[in-house]
Amino acid sequence: MVNSLVLRCMDRRFNNMVESEYGDAIVLGNAGANVYPLQDRIRDIVREEGIEKIIALPHTDCGAMGKVYSVLKGGSSADDDLMEELVSHYPPSKFSTRQELEKMNYEIQLARLKELFPDMKASGRLFDTGSIDAPKEELEHKLVVMKPGKPDYSRVFASLRLNPFQCYVVQAETEIAMADIKLAVKELGAKTVYFVTMDGDNPRDTKQEADRAALALSGVEGVEIRMHDMRRVRKSLA
Ligand SMILES: [Zn+2]
Repeated sequence: MVNSLVLRCMDRRFNNMVESEYGDAIVLGNAGANVYPLQDRIRDIVREEGIEKIIALPHTDCGAMGKVYSVLKGGSSADDDLMEELVSHYPPSKFSTRQELEKMNYEIQLARLKELFPDMKASGRLFDTGSIDAPKEELEHKLVVMKPGKPDYSRVFASLRLNPFQCYVVQAETEIAMADIKLAVKELGAKTVYFVTMDGDNPRDTKQEADRAALALSGVEGVEIRMHDMRRVRKSLA
């Protein structure tokens, strides 16, 4: 079997698809499946895990691209870290519609992966979000933050008693994903952020991650940071 690494967008409609189609892969996730802030981390995982194949999964109707579009074409503002990590990678003269921006995002991320890993099989798809049968009812949005790893989402969501379709998922350390966490909270309405300790994680790291996020989000009203330890959840709960 080929060892794969998947870089997904954090979009809440993707969880079931990623888990069912890429359940054996090491998954990283952020806003827009953006390679740039994660590239050193990806490089380490490729080396440590003997990764042979990388797959980028950006998508249509992407909230992160919506934000990029409104900054570059609509004059809305963005934090410095979001400008640097995300917005700055899209030359405004190269697209006019949001659909063109989303297609360009796919091309940019794939090109960057091929540049970073010329000897590896890098592929991707601009996933059609319209093909996902997401429930119409609007559940309150949440953000779940985990370390890169296998997409064991259904077990995590079941133990949190959350619906997969209400949870944005960032799979990266806070240090390299703070812009994404802030985007989910400030722009996409996730007011509760769960920092999850998975089997094999050190809970002290989780605490540090949560503290760092709490500091970065201290100016945002009504946001709640929680920690959740999967090592205490019996396997039968899933
Ligand atoms: Zn997205």
